Amino acid sequence: MRVDLHCHTTVSDGSLSPTDLVRRAAVCGVELLAITDHDSTASWDEASTVNAGLVKPLQLVTGIEFSTLWQGREIHIVGLNFPPGHGSIAALEQRQSQVRAERAAAIAVKLVKKGVPDALEAVTRIAGGQQIGRPHFAKLLIDRGMVRSTEHAFSKYLRRGKPLYVAPEWCDIPTAVAAIVAAGGVAVLAHPVAYQLSNVQLNELIKFFVEAGGGAIEVASGQHNPGDVNRLADLAIHYKLSASAGSDFHHPGGWLELGKNTRLPDKVVPIWTQWLQEGRA
Ligand code: AMP
Ligand code: MN
Ligand code: MN
Ligand code: MN
Repeated sequence: MRVDLHCHTTVSDGSLSPTDLVRRAAVCGVELLAITDHDSTASWDEASTVNAGLVKPLQLVTGIEFSTLWQGREIHIVGLNFPPGHGSIAALEQRQSQVRAERAAAIAVKLVKKGVPDALEAVTRIAGGQQIGRPHFAKLLIDRGMVRSTEHAFSKYLRRGKPLYVAPEWCDIPTAVAAIVAAGGVAVLAHPVAYQLSNVQLNELIKFFVEAGGGAIEVASGQHNPGDVNRLADLAIHYKLSASAGSDFHHPGGWLELGKNTRLPDKVVPIWTQWLQEGRA
């Protein structure tokens, strides 16, 4: 089965609308899909309506990618397959969106001092009035000729330790996991290799995540090479976690594509096995 349980729309920092994303997923042959926008489930109504109208609807489950803090690092926790609009998810979404708005305002203040007087209005426009993320600031920096590319914007200005970085006050891992579990969803540790942790630190993170009630780790991801996939599969088995798979697709035209690089090794238990058995996907 072709699966994608991690991707983004215009609700966060992706460039396709929920409608276009669902249609593209269908063209790419995805059969089981979750949209996981940063700290938001706002794509759900549109995505599920469009999906229901397809000649061959996908199996669509709810999703979200919460930003959290652990030992001063930003760790992403994906939540999957909870009832749409569940109160525990909605409450955390609201809190995180306030943190995101405050961070955007603080970044904008710094950017004004760098000679962009209309920073907040401009970045709000770029985000289309939706949640503002650092990629929207990257676009603004490119538009104003201050950097060449998104990558350059992050390395010169937006990354931790760089001039426009503002330490966000995201929730901690137990808070995100608890909100997902309270809603009946599964909490997934997203793209574990993206945090550039040592082996010891990665094991420490996974243990902490498991103790908080985490249920799965992303074994297959657009960000993982084959060696990563194998190593993460072994970690999933060791910690008795199920395995998730998602491209982390944001934009067409890059090398990440919906449903691509999401095959799991045979030795792991896919997160969707139980959903299919229980008729929940
Ligand atoms: P935020 O959640 O607003 O802090 O933004 C984080 C998002 O920025 C991630 O989800 C990625 O989509 C994107 N991102 C992070 N680092 C980079 C980078 N070095 N180059 C391009 N995009 C990045
Ligand atoms: Mn993103
Ligand atoms: Mn992420
Ligand atoms: Mn993501």
